[in-house]
Formats: sequence, C-alpha cells, structure tokens
Amino acid sequence: MSLPPRTLRFDLLRVASDLTRIGLNKGTAGNVSVRFDDGLMITPSGVPAARLAPALMVEIDGRGNFHGEAAPSSEWRFHRDIYVNRPDVGAVIHTHAPFCTAIACQRRDIPAFHYMIAVAGGKDIRCSRYATFGTQELSDAALAALEGRRACLLANHGMIATGPNLDAALKLAQEVEELAEQFWRVLQIGEPIVLDDAEMDRVLEKFRTYGQPRKA
Ligand code: 13P
Ligand code: ZN
Repeated sequence: MSLPPRTLRFDLLRVASDLTRIGLNKGTAGNVSVRFDDGLMITPSGVPAARLAPALMVEIDGRGNFHGEAAPSSEWRFHRDIYVNRPDVGAVIHTHAPFCTAIACQRRDIPAFHYMIAVAGGKDIRCSRYATFGTQELSDAALAALEGRRACLLANHGMIATGPNLDAALKLAQEVEELAEQFWRVLQIGEPIVLDDAEMDRVLEKFRTYGQPRKA
C-alpha cells in the first residue's frame, strides 16, 4: 500500500534539499520522484530547492494526468517510464552532479576501474545516447542505459540513480558521483586498469550478501 501523499511530499522536499546541500545539484537542476499509487509524485519544474514546498509536489496518475498547483518536472517522462518498466524501482533521482556530468559530456561509460562500480548493479555504469532534455527520446535513451542497472549517465547532461525507496536512491546517487570523481582523478594520470568480467562476476556475487546479517 502507498504511503500517504503528505508524507511523500515532505520526503521529496527533504531529498531535493539534501541533493543541493551535498553539492549534487545546483539551482533548478535535477528532479526527484517517488512511486505513488498507479503513478508517481514528482518535484515541480524550475523551482530551486530553497523555494520548494510540500504543496508544490505534483502527482501524475497512471493515465499521465497531472494533479497539483505547479507544473511537474520537465523530465516527468523518464520518471514515469522507469516506474512502468522497472517494478524494482520505488524512487528516481536525476542530478547534474559535477563529476558525473563531466564524464557524461565525453559520452563515456564508467568501466569497472574500481570494484565498487557493482553498486549500480552491473559491470559498468553506462552513458546513454544523447537526446534533448524533457523529451520522450531522452526517456527511451535513459531506459536503454539503465537496463540491468540502478544508475546511468545521461550524455551531455547528468545522471539518474534509482532505488527501492528515496533513501536508497539518494545513497546510490552519492556513491555514483564518488565513483565518477575517482574515475576523473584516475584519468588525470592515465588510463585505468579495468577489472575483467570474471572478477566482476565474483564482486557482483559478493555484493548479493554484502552487509547482510550472518544467518544463525
Ligand atoms: P526541471 O526543473 O523541469 O525538473 O528540470 C531540471 C532538469 O534537470 C532537466 O533535465
Ligand atoms: Zn537535467
């Protein structure tokens, strides 16, 4: 059963504010949504975090109708399409985080230069093909880059991180930006040595139980 909308409105406000506070977004860049009923609830378009209010969050129902006093984020299409196509996802975060965006402007995937790349669900973090912001084309590109992954870069734009809930998506957004920064640093001294598929298979297997309590 969905959480009451009032709680979700405050949760969206908290996470959007956190993204600005920790430097993953600036100004009106980025947007946040959470799965709700047969649709979603999303941050409004063009409102900086400091001016956000719970009442400005917009509900989008399963038929694509908007309910709210503000216009929804211009990226509502990829938020909607991720929920429709990915039952594992309960929250979506989009940012223009600086290091992710730098790598995305080179249209580079982030390879397995560090084992932690597995945190996004696979052996790399893909960069999508380029499409104009706010378009269905960008949504299609994002979904393709997210296949089998929980995060991706958006070419010449930024990144998307998903999770079963808002806190998990926020944690992943931070981890992906950290990886992008480490990758950027490595590129200053040369090309990294990329872990091979067999090693990443081992890492992905270990990630399935990492941090879980030991069974009695
Ligand atoms: P919105 O303010 O419409 O959410 O747009 C910000 C953004 O990052 C577009 O890609
Ligand atoms: Zn954007």
